[in-house]
Amino acid sequence: MPYKFTFDLSPVPRFFFTEIARISYQKGMTKTLFNTLQEMIKKFKIQEATGLNLSDAVVVIQDLIDVQAVNLMERKKFLQTKKRALFLPHCSRKYMDGRCKAVFDDSIPSYVCSHCSPDCLVNKADCVAKKKGYDVYVLPGGSCVAKILKSAKYEGIVGVACGEEIKLSGELLSETGLAGQSIPLIKNGCSSTVFNMDTLVKTL
Ligand code: SF4
Ligand code: SF4
Repeated sequence: MPYKFTFDLSPVPRFFFTEIARISYQKGMTKTLFNTLQEMIKKFKIQEATGLNLSDAVVVIQDLIDVQAVNLMERKKFLQTKKRALFLPHCSRKYMDGRCKAVFDDSIPSYVCSHCSPDCLVNKADCVAKKKGYDVYVLPGGSCVAKILKSAKYEGIVGVACGEEIKLSGELLSETGLAGQSIPLIKNGCSSTVFNMDTLVKTL
């Protein structure tokens, strides 16, 4: 399920995400998180950079912090896993129409990237992850996750998606007991979406 609004955090300085990580460590220890979020929004000029109103900016940043906090809690368990998969969202493909040469295999269900565009984020992520021994899936929706997890026995999952999809998949992962790491989109909108490749590489 997507957000009811679109956002693009890609113009925001990298230091903003370092701050997110720092606050995530403190999560649960502070009653003033809302104030902290407001300070961050002001400090990094989030509204000016993204056009978001204050309440939507708070939602996005709160979700980033929540995701990062879960990643931190799960990191040790994840590092102990051997058989891993990477789930990528189809919305981060360079093209969403016939120019994307990926073939959708309904039996998996996943797109299989044909590497038609060197500057496509999905292509780059697919290549990096496969080199590291991951199976890679490019999914049209979170509903595919359950089917894949049933047919292939993984120990660790890395998932890239918008915050809402991450929450839904997180519930599924906690039911299965698998170790997960999530990478939120920094530009949403269900097409031409963006995630941070450096973050993905570090997470893998
Ligand atoms: S590189 Fe892969 S995912 Fe990207 S547009 Fe081409 S076939 Fe589609
Ligand atoms: S932004 Fe991407 S991951 Fe999120 S709901 Fe839309 S298509 Fe799915």
